[in-house]
Amino acid sequence: MGVPQNLCTSCGKPLFARYDLKEAARTLTPQSLTTRGKSLWRYREVLPVRKDEDIVTLGEGWTPMLHVPRLGAKLGMERLYIKDESQNPTQSFKARGMTGAVSMAKQYGLKKLAVPSAGNAAGALAAYAARAGIEAHIFMPADTPQANIIECRETGAHVTLINGLITDCGMEVAKRKAAEGWFDVSTLKEPFRVEGKKTLGYELAEQLDWKLPDAVLYPTGGGTGLIGMWKAFDEMQQMGWIGSERPRLYTIQASGCAPIVRAFEEGKRFADEFPNAATKASGLRVPKAIGDFLMLDALRASGGGVVAVPDEEMIQAVRELGSAEGIFAAPEGAACYAALKHLRAQNVIRADEQAVIFNTGAGVKYLECFHD
Ligand SMILES: *Cc1c(COP(=O)(O)O)cnc(C)c1O
Repeated sequence: MGVPQNLCTSCGKPLFARYDLKEAARTLTPQSLTTRGKSLWRYREVLPVRKDEDIVTLGEGWTPMLHVPRLGAKLGMERLYIKDESQNPTQSFKARGMTGAVSMAKQYGLKKLAVPSAGNAAGALAAYAARAGIEAHIFMPADTPQANIIECRETGAHVTLINGLITDCGMEVAKRKAAEGWFDVSTLKEPFRVEGKKTLGYELAEQLDWKLPDAVLYPTGGGTGLIGMWKAFDEMQQMGWIGSERPRLYTIQASGCAPIVRAFEEGKRFADEFPNAATKASGLRVPKAIGDFLMLDALRASGGGVVAVPDEEMIQAVRELGSAEGIFAAPEGAACYAALKHLRAQNVIRADEQAVIFNTGAGVKYLECFHD
């Protein structure tokens, strides 16, 4: 962890942080957690950053795991839960990743960070960079939700809008970073966003009394959260907190951009770029993900699956979920509820099972999606 790194310089694939888990487990125990602070930094021993003073925090993580009986009843389920990530700083779970990446950037003494983003990653980077006194250079598609563009400007970032997709934004960052002296914090091309996001897996276990649920529904773009959770389960098993059981992981994507769904169904280990990607769920508008094989391996090993949801269904699901439970979900989160209806109809997820939906962001950041 001595020098900033992006991808592996020999194979071009993502790098992952490893910990001495035996050492970590001496002080980090389910018992010790009962008295720790209510942020994701409660899992300090399995997070990067050498010195506490380099941690850049806005109070992220430890979001509520809400039992949603009224919503569950519509599907005949008693044990349906929503992990409400809209309650993070900058109103999405991208805060988890950026607290990791920006804290490490501070440790390394980096001065300029750059990111291509479909929306919420930009807002989170802008906020955490401002908090650290570091420059943020952000590249977003021109049709990114207004809230994301405005929040970046108002938290002091340098914002460039690109006529294209997140992949085009990524190419722009790659082309200019050397000359501009930017460090690229693209998801999985930087090793510590996934470390922040893996705390989703720790919280899932801790908030459900160390018994993982039967099924997890995750709205999947770049897949950092999914890959992070899978890593967290492994770490928790090595520390002796859980056994070899795993929840079945379900990747939920938009019908207009479903590369992982397609690859899973075709039995492929790598996903082809999804042509003409289009969806209102900006967080899911990722036509090509560098961690595709990591997601596909995890989905298959968990015995889970995939569902693609049309935009109309996910937007309708926002109101259904909102009026049943009072959670104004992002379209990405609501897509998981729409997908769950299909999985229940096919009895892929049974009525007596415990399922957790990740509401990854706040509906209020997507006002242009809603009409009366
Ligand atoms: C980024 C984002 C996603 C996708 O997350 P990944 O970990 O990149 O798959 C889902 N929902 C929202 C609201 C997002 O901002």
